[in-house]
Parts: sequence; C-alpha cells; structure tokens
Amino acid sequence: MFRAPKGTFDLVPPRAEAILAVREAMSDAVRRAGFGYVETPSFEDTQLFVRGVGESTDVVTKEMYSFTTRGGDDVTLRPEGTAPVLRAALEGNLHRGSLPVKLWYSGSYYRYERPQKGRYRHFSQVGAEVLGTEDPANDAELIVLAMDGYRSLGLTGVRVVINSLGSEESRPAYRSALQEFLRGLDLDDETAKRAELNPLRVLDDKRPEIQAALTDAPLMSDFLSKSDLDHHDTVRTLLADAGVAFEDDARLVRGLDYYSRTLFEFVHDGLGAAQSAIGGGGRYDGLSELIGGPRLPSVGWALGVERTLLAMEAEGLPLPGETGLDVYAVPLGEEAARQLFGVVTELRRAGIRADLATGGRGLKGAMKAADRSGARLAIVAGERDLSAGVAQLKDLQTGDQRPVPLAELQNTIRTELGGSVQAN
Ligand code: AMP
Repeated sequence: MFRAPKGTFDLVPPRAEAILAVREAMSDAVRRAGFGYVETPSFEDTQLFVRGVGESTDVVTKEMYSFTTRGGDDVTLRPEGTAPVLRAALEGNLHRGSLPVKLWYSGSYYRYERPQKGRYRHFSQVGAEVLGTEDPANDAELIVLAMDGYRSLGLTGVRVVINSLGSEESRPAYRSALQEFLRGLDLDDETAKRAELNPLRVLDDKRPEIQAALTDAPLMSDFLSKSDLDHHDTVRTLLADAGVAFEDDARLVRGLDYYSRTLFEFVHDGLGAAQSAIGGGGRYDGLSELIGGPRLPSVGWALGVERTLLAMEAEGLPLPGETGLDVYAVPLGEEAARQLFGVVTELRRAGIRADLATGGRGLKGAMKAADRSGARLAIVAGERDLSAGVAQLKDLQTGDQRPVPLAELQNTIRTELGGSVQAN
C-alpha cells in the first residue's frame, strides 16, 4: 500500500468540504472587491524564487523542491504565490493597463519543512495582490478584506499585527545599525553569516536565547522617514476607521526578503506559537525590479487555508459539512433501475440534489444507503409501481410513504422540499 508522502495529506470527505468552504469564504471577500482571478503554473524557473524571495531566506536555502527537467531547465515547485503572480502580470502586460491591478488566486504550495501540525510540505493558500500602487489605502483594504473573510467563517480570535519595514530609502541606515549591533553579539557561525547577508532575518529567529540577546537591538520604527511614517499612519487610521483592531509590533519581520513598508500578519492563538500565523503579507515595492520588471510598487497577502481550518477547530466552530442530498432513489429490479435513472437525471437537471442506488442492491441495503445519504426524501419503485405509473415517495424523517404519479413526481418533490430547493 502506498501512503501520501511525508508532510502531505489527502483531503477526503467530510473534512474536504470544510476546506472548500474556507477557500470560498476567502475568495468571496476579494471577488466582492473587484479582484480578478489569476492562475499560474505549479512550477517556475528556479531563479524567479532565488531572486524574488531572496537568496538568504530559509525558503530558498532549505525548503525548495527544485529539479532539473529532462530538457535541462532548472525549475522549482512554487513555495509561494507572489513572485509567480507578479511574473504573470508582467508577462501578460497587465501593468500597462489601468493601475492598480487587483488579482486573487488559490492553489497548492510546496516547502520542504519539518512537518508538524499546521506545517506541511504541501499546503494551500488563497492570495490577493494589488499591483501598481503606493497608496496606503490598498494596504489597509487588503487587511480589512482578510479580516472580513475570517469573520464570515465565524472566527473571532484572529489578531492583526502590523509593522513598517521602511522604504528602500530609509532601510539601509537601519540595516547598518542593526548589523553593527549584531556584530557585538556572540552568535553561532550560521547566524553571524546571516547577520552579514541579511540582518533583518535575524530578528525572525525564534530561539529564546537569540530573542533575549535582541532586547536592545535598534528598531526600524526609529529609522522611518517622514513619508514612511505618514504612509504607515494612514494605514493605521484607515484600519481603525474600518473597525479593525490591530497591534503594532516593531520586531515583526517575515520569512521572505521582498517586503518594504507595510508588513502584517494574521495571528491565531489556538494553533501553538510556531504555527500561529494563519496568514500574512505586506508591501513589496521593489520586487518587480528584482525579477527584471519595471518599478511596480505593490502590496498583497497569502492566507493559509489549512491553518484557517485549524483555527476554526480551535474555536470549536461547527465545520461546514457536505451539501447533502434532497432525494435518494431506490429502484427494485432492472426495469425500475432504468426508469429511475431517467427520473434522477431529470431531477438533477431541475436543480434538485439527487442520487440513486446502483449495483442492483436489495431494498434493505438501498434504504440504508438512502438514510446515510442525508436525503430528506426517498423514491422507491418496483415493477408493479411503475406499471401502475407511480413511484413511492417516502419522507425519511417521518417514515410516511405514499404513491405519487411519475408525471407529478418532480412538482411534488419540489413542494415537499419547500424553500430548500433553488430553481435553476
Ligand atoms: P508565507 O508565504 O510564508 O507568508 O505564508 C503565508 C501563510 O501560508 C502563512 O501565514 C500560513 O498560514 C501558510 N503557510 C505557510 N507555510 C505553510 C506550511 N508549511 N504549512 C501550512 N501552512 C503554511
């Protein structure tokens, strides 16, 4: 027997329905705001991530699924969605039309991580990006939309944490100050190397001894330029106006190198500290140039679908279940099987959720299947019913059963089901 590869899992009913519902809630929020759907390949030129995500990040150095194709191309299973979406927008010349370009996406991502609850090697995200804008309104808009999506799922324990990393103008001074500070610490070789390559990444080190050593580290907030501060203040004001509570965290940095100015994370305390981020994002004004495009300031987020579901479970929310059936048909005999196949086909075409027992099952087994299906009604018919032009309609809740002429079956079912059937 084969098993799903380490760090991956299958989505099977009924939990798979809940995952689908999470994806829908997130995408509904952005579609209502006019975001267009974008889909990109599951793999890309490896250099897109090396340049885009950053050479010294954990994602690039340790977590990529990279391989050389038979044709000799170096490709990588996408570990994140922003660089691919930006690449697709540039390649499709979307940035030459009216700006900003608002895009959303949903799909699978791959990172060779140490698997644990909420941390997988294959996971899914819903993402949203606003390309070609410096306006802080777009940063705030994205945060509000994500929070509205979480709220529509019933989640109440999601916190927003925000920070500003400053712009390309103000960050170099901070980078040097932080580097200077880090050089004064007694760091292990790997961390010392990281401090030279990308000192901000050291702030993200979760080890308690490193966090303790960083207590007096300089903060980006002391190095922000006037325009960075104004930008950040506007984001904060718009969030407050929209009724979205947030926490400032001057030490928030994220695992990808491309961020500038606004940075945010959606945190849920029900998942354990290492996996508490159920989503996150920020502004990436310089990413387009890093991957060979023109300057295209942009902002976006990615929300973890599985972690959102874990957060719902942690809050004890009822998980969205399967849609369920309205009607289950039980044919008795070959001729009945043929006729009820037609009846069920017509019901489905009329927008009624219907299924039928197949495989020539006997009455007892088929009725058990009808009960298990969750259907409200069962149609039971044998040769004798059909030669009389009727089928038995059974209410599976009350057990009541009565013959209904075949020609009236659909209307009678519709009446019985009342408002629960949508005409199509
Ligand atoms: P990131 O692209 O690292 O900013 O991740 C965005 C969101 O995706 C995170 O907040 C998580 O919710 C989710 N995520 C990232 N990595 C994983 C993973 N290995 N397993 C499950 N979810 C993940």
